[in-house]
Amino acid sequence: MQKFQQYIGGEFSGGGAQFESIDPATGRPWALMPEARVDDVNRAVEAAEHALFSPEWSGMAASQRGRLLYRLAELVAENAGRLAELETRDTGKIIRETSAQIAYVAEYYRYYAGLADKIEGAHLPVDKPDMEVWLRREPIGVVAAIVPWNSQLFLSAVKIGPALAAGCTVVLKASEDAPAPMLEFARIFDQAGFPKGVLNVITGFGDQCGSVLTSHPKVNHVAFTGGPSTARHIVRNSAENLASTSLELGGKSPFIVFEDADLESAVNAQIAGIFAATGQSCVAGSRLVVQNSIKEEFLARLKEKAEKIVIGAPDDMATEIGPLCTQRQRDHAAELIAASVRQGARIVAGGVVSEGEGFYFPPTILDCSDAPETPAVTCEFFAPILSVLGFDTEAEALEIANNTEFGLASGLFTRDLARAHRMIRGIRAGIVWVNTYRAVSPIVPFGGHGLSGHGREGGLQAALDYTRVKSVWLRTSDEPIPDPFIMR
Ligand code: NAD
Repeated sequence: MQKFQQYIGGEFSGGGAQFESIDPATGRPWALMPEARVDDVNRAVEAAEHALFSPEWSGMAASQRGRLLYRLAELVAENAGRLAELETRDTGKIIRETSAQIAYVAEYYRYYAGLADKIEGAHLPVDKPDMEVWLRREPIGVVAAIVPWNSQLFLSAVKIGPALAAGCTVVLKASEDAPAPMLEFARIFDQAGFPKGVLNVITGFGDQCGSVLTSHPKVNHVAFTGGPSTARHIVRNSAENLASTSLELGGKSPFIVFEDADLESAVNAQIAGIFAATGQSCVAGSRLVVQNSIKEEFLARLKEKAEKIVIGAPDDMATEIGPLCTQRQRDHAAELIAASVRQGARIVAGGVVSEGEGFYFPPTILDCSDAPETPAVTCEFFAPILSVLGFDTEAEALEIANNTEFGLASGLFTRDLARAHRMIRGIRAGIVWVNTYRAVSPIVPFGGHGLSGHGREGGLQAALDYTRVKSVWLRTSDEPIPDPFIMR
């Protein structure tokens, strides 16, 4: 079995406790991962804090931080093939997707490299003529970055990129379900030339090392991506250190199709929206909300495409759907489908889990028109399962779309421009994709509200969120300071 090492204070080590990582395509262990214990977490945070105040990092010009981030971007691009192979092996995500996504991850580092020397303070025109007042933007401090197993390289880039651009240091905890790509990323990061301890990468179990990390007194900010129930633990943990938090959580995103839409595009976008990444995507368009006048035709076209999807080994370039990441995930999806069917949902496609090795799950479509409150409609599956509800009027479409505790993404297909604008105003979600789905860019903020969390990743604001403002008052008068009991 391959062995991986964690990265603390610029050193690699793997000698302590270890755990097995499972290959989702076979269900068998394939690698040994270091299991961070309390002592490792403490060392990683100490290393990050030491680096934060070191002259090598705190005294480094912002443009030089940018140059190091550029170097990191180049290294990620050069090593994209190996990173993709490891991500595919450890998560079961298909190689077509991991290759394309990791090549694009380099763009995120490039974007934040360019931003490093554009994080500016401000001069304030105060109401006191003998004072100069300005704001300095300083790094928020030591950042604990916690990522889920899916798209770890991407989800960590949107944390590490802005945090380092702003001059912070980071302890990243990789997911225990598939840590290999992040531990390999640490090896690549090490070659970029950052001072030791600027980034530390550990892995281990959430309720153990994750809790210690997020409540650590020397952690100033927690950047978390994962599920809402874990987010609640994290917010409780942060009551210990009063760290600020940004939370990127799950979704149950509506995909709304009006009868005037380009149906071929809408069908293809819906197939990609729910079945890409084997449905294991926070922005999966997992609730189809379709106008009743075209519902049967739309479902027939979806079913035809869904049943042609190539299910197979994740490392085969021909595969379109691979296994789910964990047995736990597959069991969870099967239970929710069974419960939904018992409550009146109708299986249009898939639904039956085949026997055999690996955590495979077929693309599944459930018509929930007679069961609109079933788990298929209300719960995040993180599996290739689409629920379908019909509507007659625009008002009904909006009501169904907004009938969720989540608020991450949404899709809207219509050719009617005025209606599109009305819907954009009414949809309660952090992202609205109109006549497209799943487009992302480093320049565009990403995030949601409600059970989907708070804060935004991507874009300029994300870098500003890794800073805190220091207000500086400078008295310009040469006159002696007068009576101390009169404040000016
Ligand atoms: P998860 O919440 O189970 O785990 C995420 C991370 O949190 C892991 O690294 C885990 O070890 C850690 N963790 C668990 N308990 C912890 C604790 N008590 N303290 C600190 N850390 C702890 O999520 P998952 O199952 O790995 O991933 C799926 C979830 O992630 C879905 O809900 C999905 O929607 C969400 N997600 C959201 C986004 C987004 O950007 N909004 C992107 C991808 C995934």
